[in-house]
Amino acid sequence: MMIQLRFLPLNKLPNGVVRFHRSVSPNFQVQNPNFATTLITRVSPPSHYTTAFMGTKVSAMVLDGKSVAEDIRDKLTIEISRMKNKFSVVPGLAVILVGERKDSATYVENKKEACESVGINSYEVCLRQDCREEEILKHISRFNDDPSVHGILVQLPLPSHINDRNILNAVCIEKDVDGFHPLNIGRLAMSGREPLFVPCTPKGCIELLRRYNVNIKGKNAVVIGRSNIVGMPASLLLQREDAAVTVVHSRTKNPEEITRQADIIISAAGKPNMVTASWIKPGAVLIDVGINPVEDSTDPRGYRMVGDICYEEACKIALAITPVPGGVGPMTVAMLLLNTVTSAKRIHKCN
Ligand code: NDP
Repeated sequence: MMIQLRFLPLNKLPNGVVRFHRSVSPNFQVQNPNFATTLITRVSPPSHYTTAFMGTKVSAMVLDGKSVAEDIRDKLTIEISRMKNKFSVVPGLAVILVGERKDSATYVENKKEACESVGINSYEVCLRQDCREEEILKHISRFNDDPSVHGILVQLPLPSHINDRNILNAVCIEKDVDGFHPLNIGRLAMSGREPLFVPCTPKGCIELLRRYNVNIKGKNAVVIGRSNIVGMPASLLLQREDAAVTVVHSRTKNPEEITRQADIIISAAGKPNMVTASWIKPGAVLIDVGINPVEDSTDPRGYRMVGDICYEEACKIALAITPVPGGVGPMTVAMLLLNTVTSAKRIHKCN
């Protein structure tokens, strides 16, 4: 069976990935007898084409979160400028960072830069590791009341003496751009109810599948991980897209037997290279949420980031795969910006 694939544009590519420019035939074809599914039904017009390249064998298509996210950000920049000119509204995002965790500080910095790049105002509060819960609540309350703030994000994880639940409950639901408020999650779980916001990482995963025209309806989807911020909402979103969803977690026996049945896998376990070839059905679409540091003496930092899915092995079997970095990460940030703009439009009724 032969399926013709065309690929979306890509800017920066991880190791082992080749960029095909316009000079390469746009009718470039992948032949693989194992591609029994028709997950990808429609294609978008590419400017150049990307596929993972293993030795002489062409393999899985790269789902390029970085360039899709750039496209979303470009459109948001135009939309924000329109809102400013027509309604004098500038979206604003407030970020609360508690403690000195380096990874959290980096994430907050990235979000701040992303806001600036599209024209969203960002407000930042940095609190000491030993700050009291009341102090965080006081800032949330202030941002809840501030009309120039349309989204409030408390960077997780919080120090162990702080009760996460009290903090997340305090963010007013209309500004809960992370989508972690129990009311938003509850609405996501119920049919016929709509959350005001959907958590950014799972939303980014689904958006990426949509952008590459991956057919979700009726497919077997497996989510690895059941955390409140990724795994659980990802499984709810896939159900809303009419997939048959199975969730695998740390207590699941023989998880690879379950994942081998999956047309689509979203992995959010935080375990480097856990998903190897034997876990993957030929022709599956793989979304790797995991961001895991592994030692690498060839990298000046002494480490590099890998996903939960063993990229090299998966590329030989899968139909499509997200790279790490450059897959889900940029989509998460783009969804945060999108949620903030949606919030500002809803609050100020500017459409
Ligand atoms: P958590 O640690 O909160 O959750 C991990 C989940 O994976 C748990 O449900 C756990 O099961 C499950 N799990 C752990 N080990 C296994 C295993 N061996 N087999 C099957 N399931 C397992 O992590 P998060 O959900 O917060 O994050 C997951 C990963 O995603 C991390 O690498 C994180 O850095 C990354 N991440 C990436 C983002 C992005 O934008 N790309 C955003 C957010 C997170 P149990 O419930 O039984 O403990």
